[in-house]
Amino acid sequence: MATERTLSIIKPDATRRNLTGKINAKFEEAGLRIIAQKRIHLSKAQAGEFYAVHKDRPFYGELCDFMASEPVVVQVLEGEGAIAKNREVMGATNPSEAEAGTIRAEFALSIGENSVHGSDAPETASVEIAYFFSGLELVG
Ligand code: ADP
Ligand code: MG
Repeated sequence: MATERTLSIIKPDATRRNLTGKINAKFEEAGLRIIAQKRIHLSKAQAGEFYAVHKDRPFYGELCDFMASEPVVVQVLEGEGAIAKNREVMGATNPSEAEAGTIRAEFALSIGENSVHGSDAPETASVEIAYFFSGLELVG
């Protein structure tokens, strides 16, 4: 399998509860390397642009408010099959459906406040990485 890069976000429900380190440990234990990372506070407009694919969904407004409510940690994870591997480590969107040991099973509060974002395909990963990071900031 090829080495890939994926965009991860530690969401406001997790940064607020001081869970950045515990979540990063899950990535590293799974063999994902954190090759770029920064803590930022998104505006509602920036959150809305990032999640534009969901703009017609009923939860879009709530999702943008939540993502702009407090700081997030945006990261690039690198590893073999990193996109799918990260989705495994994250667990299902709804924490009540997430497998034991996954980030969302352990830490998520609800289907909305579910602690982490991860890119879902190579195309979205490259667009999402470029939304937050310049090439110079990616140190593999
Ligand atoms: P994932 O983050 O697992 O890729 P989606 O791309 O489907 O999930 O949704 C993006 C984000 O929107 C979710 O992580 C979650 O924060 C929020 N979300 C999804 N479905 C709902 C819902 N039914 N109610 C509230 N928020 C939701
Ligand atoms: Mg998604």
